[in-house]
Amino acid sequence: ILQVSEVSKQFHPNQLPAVNKVSFELRKGELLGLLGPSGCGKTTLLRMIAGFEKPNGGRIELAGQVVSGDGFWVVPEKRQTGMVFQDYALFPHLTVADNIAFGLKSKKPRFSRGEILHRVQEILNLVGLAGLEKRYPHQLSGGQQQRIALARAIAPQPELILLDEPLSNLDVQVRERLRHEIRTILKSTNTAAIFVTHDQQEAMAIADTIGVMQRGNLEQLDTPENLYVQPQSRFVAEFVTQAN
Ligand code: ATP
Repeated sequence: ILQVSEVSKQFHPNQLPAVNKVSFELRKGELLGLLGPSGCGKTTLLRMIAGFEKPNGGRIELAGQVVSGDGFWVVPEKRQTGMVFQDYALFPHLTVADNIAFGLKSKKPRFSRGEILHRVQEILNLVGLAGLEKRYPHQLSGGQQQRIALARAIAPQPELILLDEPLSNLDVQVRERLRHEIRTILKSTNTAAIFVTHDQQEAMAIADTIGVMQRGNLEQLDTPENLYVQPQSRFVAEFVTQAN
């Protein structure tokens, strides 16, 4: 579903690249966690896939279409991706139902009013928040807001969801519960996702595969088990064994 080839980003000529010739592939429904120390380039890589940042080199192909590179550039709104950020970013003046409906209204081919209402209900059931459609974001807990943000991102059925530290603002108990819920929701809809985290436990609980980054390089991309059993560098070995 996603092919990233030799993608690089250098913000300043006299600085090391934030992302250095990163290549990987993501299959339909696969959940990839990007892990690594602060400043290693996780967010920059995610933003390039979303289209918020232009790479200096390399190619990104999404659902069979080149969205960046080879002379092509597709703007974020035209990429088949949903985004969830750490600060939820729900529209404060819109109800839960209208927040979820927002992405559906701009989708082509157009949904009818009835179809939108039906889809909003379906997605609220999926995230376990049916009954809250008339509330406003400030009337919800942090965990509920984050589930609505996820609901809004998956409602238009994107091929890929990008999550940047989706649980970092939540308290420990809510985080632990939501990890499993996020995985279940994404798996039940067969939606591929890439999520950035600095929390190993979180990456292990959600992801099928984990990419460990260091100074702009993708050091290893592997299953959580293999990262422990067969780390390919000293950095990976030390990084995955250190306590959070
Ligand atoms: P964190 O876990 O702290 O969020 P990260 O792994 O997501 O870190 P990035 O935010 O991708 O790291 O940053 C990678 C490097 O690029 C850092 O050195 C950062 O200072 C630099 N950088 C990021 N955005 C910009 C920008 N807009 N202009 C200049 N430098 C930037």
